[in-house]
Amino acid sequence: MPKKPEEDNPWQTALTQFNYVSKLMNLPEDTYQLLKNFSRILTVSVPVRMDSGSVVSFEGFRVQHCSAKGPYKGGIRYHPELTLEDLKALAMEMTWKCSLADVPFGGAKGGIVCDPKKLSRGELERITRRYTYAIHPIIGADKDIPAPDVNTNEQTMAWMMDTYSMNTGFCAPGVVTGKPLNIGGSLGRADATGLGIAFITASAVQQSNKTLKNLKVIIQGYGNVGSAAGKFLEEMGCKIVAISSSGGGIYNPRGLSHNAIMEYYRGNGSFKHFPLAENITNAELLELSCDILIPAALGGQITKKNADKIKAKLIIEGANGPVTPEADEILSGRKITVVPDILANAGGVIVSYFEWVQDAQCYFWCKHEVNVKLRMLLERTFNEVYSFAKENKYSLRTSAMMLAIKKVAEAIAVRGLFP
Ligand code: NAD
Repeated sequence: MPKKPEEDNPWQTALTQFNYVSKLMNLPEDTYQLLKNFSRILTVSVPVRMDSGSVVSFEGFRVQHCSAKGPYKGGIRYHPELTLEDLKALAMEMTWKCSLADVPFGGAKGGIVCDPKKLSRGELERITRRYTYAIHPIIGADKDIPAPDVNTNEQTMAWMMDTYSMNTGFCAPGVVTGKPLNIGGSLGRADATGLGIAFITASAVQQSNKTLKNLKVIIQGYGNVGSAAGKFLEEMGCKIVAISSSGGGIYNPRGLSHNAIMEYYRGNGSFKHFPLAENITNAELLELSCDILIPAALGGQITKKNADKIKAKLIIEGANGPVTPEADEILSGRKITVVPDILANAGGVIVSYFEWVQDAQCYFWCKHEVNVKLRMLLERTFNEVYSFAKENKYSLRTSAMMLAIKKVAEAIAVRGLFP
């Protein structure tokens, strides 16, 4: 498995942020040691018969960080460059994200080193089922609840739920979230992370006595999260001026229509050569002039190499870990506000929590109820972080992490150490 260079090593980023905040808040050494380490890291081999008839063994993982506040929860990522360091960082961040929004889960993350673009549907299904079987002993509605992440979706979750149920002996919808509606999914889950980003963007803009009307927005990564954020922000009055996928991006300073670009993407499989827009690279996209920049692709996108070239006044972290600690310092010096991932993209895990509650009760809510509850929870969390930051003169990231870690530390303290 390849190791990432130190500079874009997501685990180093997560650890640097945790070390900084734990010192600032005088976290007791015992608690620091518990939270710096992981409850469990499982590596599995996923042998699969390919369409060609040969057998290929893929490498899979499930990383569980801390369950002080509830069962583990976190997405499943399929990516050819996935590393254990990525997953450790993402699992730790999930602990903070759940704690910050008072969602009663602990952090986890999992995935398989594979390139889904090169796999048939049948191969993807066999990989998913064999992986689920391999991690079966440590997942479950009361233990650890996976969800979709990069390159996985509701179909992946349906295969996971079915495989888990077949091996357990009863139908277990609560084992995963982000499922299709007809097997216990929640209305509003598919768009929840993007809608949450739109609510958080509105709250952040409101603090400078502005509205979203005509603000220019750039979104890197127009997948599940980015495209939903684009759709809702456009509905709220923003102008989406540039977007991208891994194949590159498009730019029109007068604005792009969400529906038109999605229709073009469905027909062409890429945004390239979209009419009335200029083709740009992902590096160029980040440095364009705009009011709001939403990195919604992968981690480590804004680094010390490009932070001084960012022209946005507000960065909303749609992806997990898109801004490195060195870049954070540069951006803060340039008075660019960064709304951190554990706050900005918490909409997904919040509605996952709603899905888990609905599955447990076998009683399902209407979309309006889901979205109203999501908005209330996110606005309350944003206001809590914003007031703390203002009062203590800390950045939004430091404030969000302090509030989140404090709640986990309190849970650890009151539970005590077993045995
Ligand atoms: P996705 O696979 O649906 O979309 C990812 C998008 O990023 C795609 O458009 C892809 O082409 C693009 N991309 C990949 N590499 C890129 C690169 N180097 N430059 C530019 N674009 C690139 O994944 P997603 O579910 O939308 O997740 C995106 C991010 O949001 C991830 O960091 C994920 O961890 C985070 N996130 C997802 C959820 C969720 O509910 N899906 C929740 C919270 C956070």
